[in-house]
Amino acid sequence: MEKLLVINCGSSSLKYEVYAMPGRTSLGKGLVERIGSEIGKITQHSQKGVFESEEPLPDHDAAMSLVSRALTDPEKGIIESIQEITGVGHRTVHGGEDYANSVIIDDKVIDAIQRNSDLAPLHNPANLTGIKAAMEMLPGVPQVAVFDTAFHQTLSPASYLYGLPRELYTKYKIRRYGFHGTSHRYVSAEAVKLLKRSVENTNVISCHLGNGASITAIRQGLSVETSMGFTPLEGLVMGTRSGDLDPAILLFLLEKGHSKEEINEMVNKKGGLLGLSGISNDMRDLHVAADSGNQDAQEALEVFAHRIRMYIGAYAANMVKVDALIFTGGIGENDTRMREMICHRLENIGIVMDYEKNKQNGSKAGIVSVDYSPISIVVMPTNEELQIAIDTHELINKQFKSWVYLKE
Ligand code: ADP
Repeated sequence: MEKLLVINCGSSSLKYEVYAMPGRTSLGKGLVERIGSEIGKITQHSQKGVFESEEPLPDHDAAMSLVSRALTDPEKGIIESIQEITGVGHRTVHGGEDYANSVIIDDKVIDAIQRNSDLAPLHNPANLTGIKAAMEMLPGVPQVAVFDTAFHQTLSPASYLYGLPRELYTKYKIRRYGFHGTSHRYVSAEAVKLLKRSVENTNVISCHLGNGASITAIRQGLSVETSMGFTPLEGLVMGTRSGDLDPAILLFLLEKGHSKEEINEMVNKKGGLLGLSGISNDMRDLHVAADSGNQDAQEALEVFAHRIRMYIGAYAANMVKVDALIFTGGIGENDTRMREMICHRLENIGIVMDYEKNKQNGSKAGIVSVDYSPISIVVMPTNEELQIAIDTHELINKQFKSWVYLKE
């Protein structure tokens, strides 16, 4: 049994989980918050209980040594010694056009993550900090980068090019990259298993609906369409992000005297469900408000479902056939009413929900379409951390098969 550490490092927080592989068992996980501020906090859960501590955390190195202490705590720890960790997998946001797969990290990979920071200025530098701190904590232990963008590197130019002057692509690499790749890859593979089908014979449309939301069309295991674009802002209406807009709106707002920063706030932090409802970015609050007659909340729910249906229709039209529609993410997994709202008008393209099954199924993995539905509807809880552990395990044991060349 190998024990692998999975790290998702943000600018002020760090999530981690320890997996026993190949059994895919989580041994425990934790969250470090407020890195860089006077008093940081760690909370770790495992079978031995909860480890909690608040202490000064000036930087990511301090956070990582706190993680090491929590992991090996004599009473509440997950492992006895840090040497038990034989590999580390890092969630890494942007691999640009450099990476179409997960990779073992070396100097070249570090350079590429750095180079692509231009495309993900908030995330890549934070991911790199986590990688460097983990390398210092565990010298000689293989570290693996699993990119959010890599899965979508199989998109064709027809789906990744924008209708812009071509030099914007050649000069600035402005194109669709797509995100949530690790989640779409995980749930689509699990859905194929649940449906007892083979990857080579299955096309799916996967809806990751969380606070951030995206839809991906996957043909025979490869991503062929995805709704997030150059940044995660494009596509669906999300918790606080606007999703698709007429780009002229931004120019109009600039003309009206709004600053670049204000506009950025409007579309990234104050838009989406929050902006439309004026109440919350959380679906649970919106259902309560809509049920008590709040029209803005009701409209926010309708805009959300409508945009998703538009994408499902467009993606179905671009695939030879579709075998399954997958729901995942906080909303996709838990919100049975939203799943129902989305599927209400999809019968005409062969997606027929069994509304009772949908309600009964709740948030577990299951099929919620009627038996005669040409396209199955699947609820599949996502697990990006597990997918990172799987990639890390396969890469360090040289069993990793590039999903890009799956068919060779
Ligand atoms: P993130 O994108 O931050 O990872 P999640 O996938 O955890 O987000 O999804 C969070 C969202 O899921 C919440 O904002 C809320 O809208 C929704 N959600 C979570 N639980 C429920 C529930 N039981 N019913 C409806 N919506 C839910």
